[in-house]
Amino acid sequence: MENPNAHLFKYCPQCGVKNLFVSDEKSFLCGSCDFKFYLNTAAAGIALIFNKNDKLLVTKRKHDPAKGMLDLPGGFADPGETIEECLIREIKEELNIEIGSLNYFCSVPNTYLYKNITYSITDFAFLCSVNNFDTIQACDDISDFYFMKLNELDKNAFGLESPKIVIDRLRMQFLKKAF
Ligand SMILES: [Zn+2]
Repeated sequence: MENPNAHLFKYCPQCGVKNLFVSDEKSFLCGSCDFKFYLNTAAAGIALIFNKNDKLLVTKRKHDPAKGMLDLPGGFADPGETIEECLIREIKEELNIEIGSLNYFCSVPNTYLYKNITYSITDFAFLCSVNNFDTIQACDDISDFYFMKLNELDKNAFGLESPKIVIDRLRMQFLKKAF
């Protein structure tokens, strides 16, 4: 795998010399002072929230990447946070609703291009229960939300790759009769 950010990093952050080389797909090495810099995979959570009519909660992205495209709710884990804590926080921030229980569903690798840097992400998807949707509203970095049937979702309306894969897995698990 090539380093997707090879064109961006030239100067060593430690000694300032223009002698920074790609070490591998996720790291850089300074030829002058031996400084080593990693762009490791970041962890993120995806919340799979169904209402009582078996419709999945889908959001619309307010910002780039993929501004205006559909997404699944969630976000990046903060340092020191579990994915469960991350999802409870993100879903409160984005949608003003409270997650009850969480059950691991699957993990999917993703890439996220933000201001010219390509970040490698590992998305962890959890099935999340929500008892009360009365307070739901689009906040933070989402511009709208929808409840959609799994068999009616158009994967091409999703801007990032990992939600498409997660939706495929949901369909395989929950719509077995349809396939
Ligand atoms: Zn250096």
